[in-house]
Amino acid sequence: MSENNKQYKLAARPVGLPKDSDWEFTNSAKPVAKDGEVVVKVHYVSLDPAMRGWMNDAKSYIPPVGIGEVMRAGTVGEVIESNNPAFAVGDSVTGYHGVQQYGVSDGKDLVKVDPKLAPLESYLGGLGMPGITAFFGLTDVGAVKEGDTVLVSGAAGAVGSLVGQIAKIKGARAIGIAGGADKCKYVVEELGFDACVDYKSDTFLTDIKGPLKGGVDVYFDNVGGEILDLAMARLNRHARVVICGAISQYNNTTPVKGPANYLNLLVQHARMEGFVVFDYVARYAEGVQQLATWHAQGKLKFKEHVDTGIENFPSTFLKLFTGENFGKLVLKVKED
Ligand code: NAP
Repeated sequence: MSENNKQYKLAARPVGLPKDSDWEFTNSAKPVAKDGEVVVKVHYVSLDPAMRGWMNDAKSYIPPVGIGEVMRAGTVGEVIESNNPAFAVGDSVTGYHGVQQYGVSDGKDLVKVDPKLAPLESYLGGLGMPGITAFFGLTDVGAVKEGDTVLVSGAAGAVGSLVGQIAKIKGARAIGIAGGADKCKYVVEELGFDACVDYKSDTFLTDIKGPLKGGVDVYFDNVGGEILDLAMARLNRHARVVICGAISQYNNTTPVKGPANYLNLLVQHARMEGFVVFDYVARYAEGVQQLATWHAQGKLKFKEHVDTGIENFPSTFLKLFTGENFGKLVLKVKED
């Protein structure tokens, strides 16, 4: 009997937070490799806030996932069948196989990774897309330099936790904003940020005043909304606002809330620039090499939040929007 391939497909376009009925859980035949192709057994699926945007029927930097298609997601797994000379059975590879147990590929989108250097799930986090986002977003778009004050929201998350650590490596001050005392404690005590302020606290607006007394040179925005507005009010001359994401707005059923304080860009001769990590495809290897070196030197810490069981995808995905994930959220497809 042929083996099965459990998959989550997009069944409907969500309004607000995705519901169970927006997904279809199917059991298809396991794919086979044609000439030039490989079959990859997916071990970990990357759960990223961007996936919420890919579910909307809207023009973006990438086409939306179609209704009835397997949900797009970054993955890491193992080649189990190869008709492509560039890949051998047993190779570990990252790719975009989506929320399913097995994927097939012509190899063009696959990157070989070394499971002896780091656990497989790290290649979806600190040594993968979020790490590269933090690195190029801060050093290239944010043009961070020694002595800057860098403010980053989503500071305990996959991207934000690295932004603050890279800021410190570059000789800048790192101030984080995160949800809850535990996350803030981790950001300061484990990751070495200079300060972290809990935006869920009733005293947030008072608490943030001290750390931002000297203003902000780089604001790395992961959340948008009111926190973006607050940061824009504290910009220093020639500040850079890096628009990486706006998770507070992704499930809106009303129009996105834009910054009321944008004229501060004029007053402070500042700039605001958005970017997408795919802009840096040609420089991925350079980014990963630098991140791996800092990690090996003990200068960069990664944390993954691993849930298990492909069947748990819908509820695990929602953790990104409630803040229940503590570290890069990944789904381990199957128990060992
Ligand atoms: P993450 O921070 O690991 O996880 C999401 C976190 O967002 C949650 O844990 C939660 O942390 C916070 N959050 C959720 N709802 C929020 C709200 N309403 N207000 C404020 N914070 C909220 O996710 P990530 O993968 O690192 O992604 C962070 C951001 O970067 C996202 O906006 C994502 O879209 C963006 N991104 C952009 C690119 C790019 O190419 N431009 C690439 C990767 C990621 P708290 O507990 O602290 O609230």
